Amino acid sequence: MIAFDLRCSNGHCFEGWFKDIDSFNEQNSMGMITCPLCKDTNITRVLSPVAIKSSQEFEVDEEKSKNNPPDLGKLFMGVVEYVKNNFEDVGTNFAAEALKIYYGITKKRNIRGTATAKEEQVLKDEGIKFTKMPFSKTEDDNN
Ligand SMILES: [Zn+2]
Repeated sequence: MIAFDLRCSNGHCFEGWFKDIDSFNEQNSMGMITCPLCKDTNITRVLSPVAIKSSQEFEVDEEKSKNNPPDLGKLFMGVVEYVKNNFEDVGTNFAAEALKIYYGITKKRNIRGTATAKEEQVLKDEGIKFTKMPFSKTEDDNN
């Protein structure tokens, strides 16, 4: 069984358990999945955070930023630090790990690493969201 995070067209989020991704797709296409709150059957999957999603952790206080615009350089370094400390470095296995997480084969977690252009295309084709960050070149860069 795999747990998917789901969302209806009214923005309600809930969790659904399925045998696999195919059974989810099948049930969803037949309108068998309904929102527990509003019975909506227009359900979409919320993608797992396989890579870097910094917007929530680093939301800028709007009131503050009006008078005092954030130092973007500082903000960016903060993001880099955060990612380095909180994301597991999977190196050149990034694409494979992202796919495994996406399909529920391994535990959901934050990962970072490197991917070839071809691997990036595969992730895009699968609908996996990831963000590129200009880390220093100390990590594997020899694909
Ligand atoms: Zn709903």
